[in-house]
Amino acid sequence: MKTLKSMRLHIAIFGRTNAGKSTLLNRIAGQDVSIVSEIAGTTTDVVEKSMELLPIGPVTFLDTAGLDDVSELGEKRVEKTLKVLNRTDVAVIVRDERGISEHETELIEQLEKLKIPHFIFDRADEVSKFKETLVKLLPDDFVNSPKILGDLVPAGSTVILVIPIDKEAPKGRIILPQVQAIRDLLDSDCLSYVVKETELKAALDNLKTPPALVVTDSQAFKQVSEIVPENIPLTSFSILFARLKGDLDEFVKGAQAIDSLQDGDRVLILESCTHHAIEDDIGRVKIPKWLRQKTGKDLKIENYAGHDFPDLESPLSPDKYKLIIHCGACMTNRREVLSRILIAHEKNIPITNYGVAISYCLGILSRAIKIFNPHPNL
Ligand code: SF4
Repeated sequence: MKTLKSMRLHIAIFGRTNAGKSTLLNRIAGQDVSIVSEIAGTTTDVVEKSMELLPIGPVTFLDTAGLDDVSELGEKRVEKTLKVLNRTDVAVIVRDERGISEHETELIEQLEKLKIPHFIFDRADEVSKFKETLVKLLPDDFVNSPKILGDLVPAGSTVILVIPIDKEAPKGRIILPQVQAIRDLLDSDCLSYVVKETELKAALDNLKTPPALVVTDSQAFKQVSEIVPENIPLTSFSILFARLKGDLDEFVKGAQAIDSLQDGDRVLILESCTHHAIEDDIGRVKIPKWLRQKTGKDLKIENYAGHDFPDLESPLSPDKYKLIIHCGACMTNRREVLSRILIAHEKNIPITNYGVAISYCLGILSRAIKIFNPHPNL
């Protein structure tokens, strides 16, 4: 089975036009994956190439446009190149005989600010040197993949996973966070018991000893919290992913901004992937409904999907976003979510995620995060 994009190391290749970025990628891949040309600006967009890179494992290379491209179209390309930083785990700057210019220097300053590991690779160097340097710079969370939930319960314990099969459930399969949670429990020598919310009561009655934890899809939180006795820990897949892909403490703090929302406030809902929005879509219908119910306010809710992050700079400060709510981010890497948290911080905008926001709106957040560490402020 193919490794998921979100679990691959994302390596961005930067450099000036014709510095040899695409050539380097092709030398590594041993095959033609992007156009290599002596004409400036041939790589017009970010070209992604996923491969197994020995000894590192699954990686995705992001081959970017030339940093020095100054044509009008080129400016857009450069802007795109900088957006790539939001999902870069390690950056490589390809240098040719022209050396380092102000373009590379500016990029290095950005990389340092964002704490993205990076190195300069000389066009003429061997590919083996590239790999050696890359291995030294691998981020810790790539080398030691953190657990999704296996560290929250003792080995040998039972965990019930509640998966509603509703209109949003894909046909014939279950979604990625659910699959990954089951695999994590298997790796942690735990017993997983997978049920719909309608069979949850029967599952609890069947067990001789109570489960160590119940994990539910956030959308069934209310119903599930009424079925699961208070003494049994309960959380959601989305909250597990808030810890795995983002910063749970930050998201818990962010959720409290829901109480301060006023009529006309703008709330930004960010999803990391584009998917076909269904009738009862979580980001477009359910969360807006829960937010309006909780606050009783007339909120302006905007949805964005994919890698693009809207411009948070508003010339009219009263109009800027009062809250950002991020999806579970199962299809992206942690760095992209952390970059967004950093940007939100810089703009002074509270940020939370789906599971945390939903449980806050439903009044069950303190219960939903108890398994991680009771939050003193809730
Ligand atoms: S919108 Fe977010 S949580 Fe939903 S599938 Fe896409 S990445 Fe995963």
